[in-house]
Amino acid sequence: MASAYDYDLFTIGAGSGGVRASRVAAGLGARVAVAEERYLGGTCVNVGCIPKKLLVYASHFAEDFEDAAGFGWTVGERRFDWARLIENKNKEIERLNGVYARVLDQAGVTRIEGRARLVDAHTVQVGEQRHTAERILVATGGWPSLPEIPGIEHAISSNEAFFLERLPERVIVVGGGYIAVEFAGIFHGQGAAVTQLYRGPLFLRGFDEDVRQALAREIGKSGIDLRFDTNVTRIDKAGSGVRVTLTDGATLDADCILYATGRRPLTEDLGLEAAGVALDAKGAIVVDDYSRTNVASIWAIGDVTDRVNLTPVAIHEAMAFVRTAFGDTPTKPDHEDIASAVFSQPPIGTVGLTEAEARARYGEIDVYRSSFRVLKHTLTGRDTQSMLKLIVDRASDRVVGCHMVGPEAGEIIQGFAVALKCRATKAQFDATIGIHPTTAEEFVTMREPVTD
Ligand code: NDP
Repeated sequence: MASAYDYDLFTIGAGSGGVRASRVAAGLGARVAVAEERYLGGTCVNVGCIPKKLLVYASHFAEDFEDAAGFGWTVGERRFDWARLIENKNKEIERLNGVYARVLDQAGVTRIEGRARLVDAHTVQVGEQRHTAERILVATGGWPSLPEIPGIEHAISSNEAFFLERLPERVIVVGGGYIAVEFAGIFHGQGAAVTQLYRGPLFLRGFDEDVRQALAREIGKSGIDLRFDTNVTRIDKAGSGVRVTLTDGATLDADCILYATGRRPLTEDLGLEAAGVALDAKGAIVVDDYSRTNVASIWAIGDVTDRVNLTPVAIHEAMAFVRTAFGDTPTKPDHEDIASAVFSQPPIGTVGLTEAEARARYGEIDVYRSSFRVLKHTLTGRDTQSMLKLIVDRASDRVVGCHMVGPEAGEIIQGFAVALKCRATKAQFDATIGIHPTTAEEFVTMREPVTD
């Protein structure tokens, strides 16, 4: 019998999660539409992971040119053209937008441009048009959240940082999370004078303590003016830049102030109330273990649910949703042992529990830690240390946490994430022969636990 609805699935938001769910559901034969008001690919493709990583690559060259001298190279005159970098980045993002459009078209998904609002449990309105669907998937993501302090309108968020016409000479970065440390490194690497302000005693709350301290030490050495226990009380326009007043009353002048003070789920003005969808205190959509909301026909995945706000997690949740809703196989997304990287300079890679979490969960643990200068820098003379750390549950010998601060940390930790997912023991780490000479080999050669 033909369905009474226009579509089997109507997805709101064509970001990482929404596109994957739409495409795969269509591949299973579902009639799918996806509405997007902004850009295909969402935050990750347009104002997140992808352009961020490109800017991080760009910002490494200054250091690489300096380091080349230790290997006998003389590097000639250097010049950096921010406008060209942004133009090239924009071209690549446009290409990716096109890839996303094609992927959806080829899967037979109907693309609808515009803002979608729920009318009821099975109806979505975009502009004047109403669409009905058996299931609705909300995948609208998140948006930068800035505190309401006087003059906040003079600040930019990461959204705007990707499109600055000129590289600011002096930048203030406010915040101590992923985005703040990544952008502080990006602007510093391009040659800007950067001050990073974090309101607490040590940034990157939630990460392992040794990781936080190691990165603070390295950033401190890099020339970024990193200040803890400092916040902004007001921002005033000063010439073409800003004058920023700090909690201790001091002022700082800059050409640009970037706020990276968290992101909030994008749930406003979506008609969620009309449809009766429950939100939590932070405005995130509440879902069960299968990503279903309190309204049986409405589901939600990705940052709008504020579970683990990472692109690969949204994609994983999308796949679990499609299996559950269209594949006859109820599947819960698995949020255990999710590896992630922070593309700070040096970067962080991490999977599993922090030392504090492991201690709370297992009681008796062993910690292995190693800090050293990587081989490359024996010739460059650069004063930088990498830090590697393993946390082992003593009773089972399982490695329950694996953390690193140092070059290629993201690339290295990805492989160890597989080992943790396979519940590898320390004995199995020890039985693995290292690849010499690499930094990663240290993870299989640490024999003596740290004594407290
Ligand atoms: P985070 O939540 O990670 O960090 C926000 C930071 O801002 C914290 O240091 C917080 O301090 C501080 N802060 C919050 N409110 C204020 C305020 N009113 N005044 C001053 N400081 C404040 O958010 P991000 O914006 O950095 O990133 C958002 C999410 O995006 C992350 O959770 C992450 O999942 C994802 N992301 C992932 C990346 C990756 O995988 N590489 C890269 C970028 C983003 P406090 O700790 O004291 O609360």
